[in-house]
Amino acid sequence: MTEKTITSSSVDSFVKTRMPAVGVDLGGTKIRAAAVLDSKLVSEPMQVATPSGPENIVQAIIDLIGNFQKDCVLSGVGIATAGIVNCDTGEIVGSTGNLPGWAGTPLKQMLEAKTMLPTLVDNDANAAAYGEASARELMNTSCISVVTLGTGIGGGLIINGKLFRGAHWGGGEIGHIRISMGNKRLCTCGLFDCWEAYGAGRGLVATARDILSGLSSNQTPLCALGEKLTTYAIVDAARSGDIVAQRAMDSWHEHIAAGLVNLAHILDPDAFIITGGMAECVDFSLLHEMVTDRCLPRVGENLMIHKSNLGGMAGIVGAGQLVLDSLAEKQLPT
Ligand SMILES: [Zn+2]
Repeated sequence: MTEKTITSSSVDSFVKTRMPAVGVDLGGTKIRAAAVLDSKLVSEPMQVATPSGPENIVQAIIDLIGNFQKDCVLSGVGIATAGIVNCDTGEIVGSTGNLPGWAGTPLKQMLEAKTMLPTLVDNDANAAAYGEASARELMNTSCISVVTLGTGIGGGLIINGKLFRGAHWGGGEIGHIRISMGNKRLCTCGLFDCWEAYGAGRGLVATARDILSGLSSNQTPLCALGEKLTTYAIVDAARSGDIVAQRAMDSWHEHIAAGLVNLAHILDPDAFIITGGMAECVDFSLLHEMVTDRCLPRVGENLMIHKSNLGGMAGIVGAGQLVLDSLAEKQLPT
C-alpha cells in the first residue's frame, strides 16, 4: 500500500482552491460574470452587452475578469458559452445563430494567454446543469437531469457526479427528442415533432393557436390577439380563469411530461431540475403527477422534480464551480 504524502505544493493547491473562481455566462445579448466559491456567488454579478465578432467578445471577457482581479486573487476562470464546446481543448466547435463566427475560436487558449489563469470552457446548458446540481449538493447522486425550458428546451446530465457530454460534445440535446409521429410540427432544427416544438414556450403558443383556430373571440379574448399571441398572454389568461387558455396550459404540461417520461425511462434519475424562463409558468404538482402516473413504478415512485433555485445565475455558478472542482481534482495529493 502506498502512503499518501501531503506535499507543500498540495497545501498550496488546497489554498488556491479556496480562492474564488470567476464564472462567466456568455449569451447572444449579454455577458455576465461573478466570483464563485462553494457553489455560490460571492460577489455581485457584472454584465456588459455582447459585442460583435470573436475578438471583441474575448476582449470583453478579459476586461470583466480584470475587474474581479482588482478585488481578489482568483483561482481560475469558468466560461459557459452558447454553442458546442470541445471541453478538452476549450475550443468552440459548433456555432450558434446568437454568436455569428464564434465556431473555431480557441477560447481557453486565448484567455489563458492573456489572464494566466487556468480556464475551463463548457456549453451553457451543461454549466447551468452543473450549477444547479452542485448548489443543491446533489453531486453524489446517480443521475440528475436538468431541463431548461425557455424559447426552446436545453439540458444537461450529471451522471455519478460528472457532466455527461457524449461522444461528439453534443450529449444532452434533449430538446430534439421526438415525442410525436406524423410530422405535425416543424422544429427550428429542421426536424419534425421535436420535444421543444411542443414543450417549450413556442410550443405552448403553437398549441394555443391549434386550439384557437376553431374558436371565435366571444369564446376567449385570446382570439383577438392574432399574431400577437404570446406565452405570457396565455399564462395570464389561464390564471384569470380563461378555460381555453387553461386547456392550452394542460396540453403544454402533457407535452412537457411526455419528454420527461421518455428521459426517466432511459435514465432512471434521482431528480429532474426544471429551469429557464418558462419554469415560472409550470404547475409543479400537476407536472409531477402526470410524470409519475406515466412512469413504471420503479422509475416513478421516488422521482423528484425540483424547480431551479438559481434561476438565471445557474450558468455563472456552474462555470465557476466546474473550474474549482477541476482544480481540486488535479491537485489531490497522490
Ligand atoms: Zn428539433
